[in-house]
Amino acid sequence: MSDLASRLRADIDLDRKGKQRGFITLAHSVHRSAYGLIQMPIACIANGSGPTVLLTAGNHGDEYEGQVALLKLMATLEPEQVAGRIVIVPALNYAASLAGLRTSPIDAVNLNRAFPGVRDGTPTQMMAHYVETVLLPLAQIGLDLHAGGSSLEYVPSSLSRWPADARQREQLLAIHRVFGCELGIVAEGASDDRTLSAAGLRHGGVHIACEIGGGGTLTPRSLCFAERGIRNLLVHVGVLQGEIEPAPPPRMMVVGGADYHVYAPARGLLEPAFSLGERVHEGQTAGFIHFLEEPDRPPRRLAFARDALVVCRRVPALVEPGDCIAQLATDRV
Ligand code: CA
Repeated sequence: MSDLASRLRADIDLDRKGKQRGFITLAHSVHRSAYGLIQMPIACIANGSGPTVLLTAGNHGDEYEGQVALLKLMATLEPEQVAGRIVIVPALNYAASLAGLRTSPIDAVNLNRAFPGVRDGTPTQMMAHYVETVLLPLAQIGLDLHAGGSSLEYVPSSLSRWPADARQREQLLAIHRVFGCELGIVAEGASDDRTLSAAGLRHGGVHIACEIGGGGTLTPRSLCFAERGIRNLLVHVGVLQGEIEPAPPPRMMVVGGADYHVYAPARGLLEPAFSLGERVHEGQTAGFIHFLEEPDRPPRRLAFARDALVVCRRVPALVEPGDCIAQLATDRV
């Protein structure tokens, strides 16, 4: 990572009190717009004293609960309700959000695998570098809102890594409890360190994500989970006035390694034999792959490798080798 400052600039002053809405601007000189800009919405609502919370969505452009919830929050939140600072970026990978894609149509980069970013990289790499060097150092608490996207669907879940620091762990568990999703999932194994949540932890903050719904859509129910989670987190950390909206405590789960996943071994049409949220057992049939090009070939049977709960399922029936069909979780003991 370069020590030079990010080339991206916000047109609002993140150190000022009050409510400001503006844009993070990235110069993007292309054929149809030689002096063009990419302008990504940002809001900052600050008042009194208190911690800084960074709220982000659209890290993957085809995950909609967070984008809608944060646009609504940006429009309605007023400084009088706030003690501290709330920085909102509703469409982190802005070009991906405009296109309804997981990755940017400009550079094909997945922002949530691009941290710590590259100062002089592609637009998505430059945005990761801006978040890493400008936004994360401001924030003691972060929430990055995700969903399953176009290819996956999740049981509504809050999600975090499991930091080495005991105090960070306690703070994260408390946020899982107030967030109000059905599940609270902790990734205890060696998970990818190129994500925003991993970057946040590197900066010493308390960073949590959520995976709510998916399938390239949003529903009233999934949006409710996102909006309640955001508000409860803000109230819990003392940045927003109000009461925590009660919700049943989440079932705390762990996602582990290879045996927590079912992958397609071949190209074909998937006939799943399970439902999202189902309790499954080792050896149980997960589904069959049917072969359009070889109608005489017997379907290939897939099986679950362990007793667990299905927390995430693939949405499209067309599969290729390496496509994740199901992700499992087990109770955290
Ligand atoms: Ca995602």
